[in-house]
Amino acid sequence: VGYLVYPLTGLAGQWAGFQRSITAIDRVIELVEKPVASLDLPTHIPVKRKPKSIEFQRLTFSYDENKQIFSNLSLQIPPGKMIALVGPSGAGKTTLFHLLQGVYQPQSGKILIDGIPTEEMTLSELRSTIAHVPQETFLFAGSIRENLSLAREGISEAEMIEAAKQACIHDYIMSLPQGYDSEIGERGMKLSGGQKQRIAIARAILKDAPILLLDEATSALDSNTESIVKQALAQLMRGRTTIVIAHRLSTIQNADEIIVLDEGEVIQTGTHEQLIAETGLYRKLNGTKPNQKKSLYLVSK
Ligand code: ADP
Ligand code: MG
Repeated sequence: VGYLVYPLTGLAGQWAGFQRSITAIDRVIELVEKPVASLDLPTHIPVKRKPKSIEFQRLTFSYDENKQIFSNLSLQIPPGKMIALVGPSGAGKTTLFHLLQGVYQPQSGKILIDGIPTEEMTLSELRSTIAHVPQETFLFAGSIRENLSLAREGISEAEMIEAAKQACIHDYIMSLPQGYDSEIGERGMKLSGGQKQRIAIARAILKDAPILLLDEATSALDSNTESIVKQALAQLMRGRTTIVIAHRLSTIQNADEIIVLDEGEVIQTGTHEQLIAETGLYRKLNGTKPNQKKSLYLVSK
């Protein structure tokens, strides 16, 4: 049996060397923003809360008497699904997010989360049920640690690191001289758009809300950064009910269901394959003319 020891010690030595070189490579690669995200993938934090269903029941809403935004809008979203919300600017996508988050109240109709009307929930209950990742990430002047701690009370160091790993931002943070204590924002370091987004994603992972609202950024990231951000988002969406205001064709193609909203009405629903086969707004938005570049121009603010 003795002879086995030698090859094993040999291997152990090589392994330590291998790990050292991985760490070194990792740093260098992170600095130039190549997709090394897979090295960054941790054993995942299990989502603690079960995904929830969302139901909009005959919603009627207007900001003011001049214009009705929704009249009798009904929608059912099953738990754990990823729904892409698309439609031209002014269709009501952002308004739907506002109503779900309790920013505005509908004039009539109900919103149910797992069958419970949101009007029966306290605002803090509602807020802890929903995580929102907006188009533009808001980070305040302070350390990365402080920005991440905002997500929820009583976050442990281990949870913070785990979430940053899932969001593919841990290696970058560790490459900074002050690590998690690095100051960002106004008087600190400037982060790139992709890095900010990944911090926002880590924050949403820490929040551990069963419902996720995503406003996909319209501004383009370079393709390496984009693939890292996508990987981080995939981690975040797992086990959650997600509604994405989507601009990228790849997101829309991955959706379990697409909801096409126009002037406050749901005019089409289905998968990308189903909708592209129908005549209708979705196909128009996709631009199906042979010589046209195949991309969605569903851009809105
Ligand atoms: P989308 O996100 O699909 O572009 P919005 O939900 O932002 O659409 O807007 C839907 C409609 O509501 C638009 O006609 C818009 O002008 C109007 N609207 C949005 N926000 C307000 C507001 N705060 N006050 C009055 N009207 C608003
Ligand atoms: Mg909008």
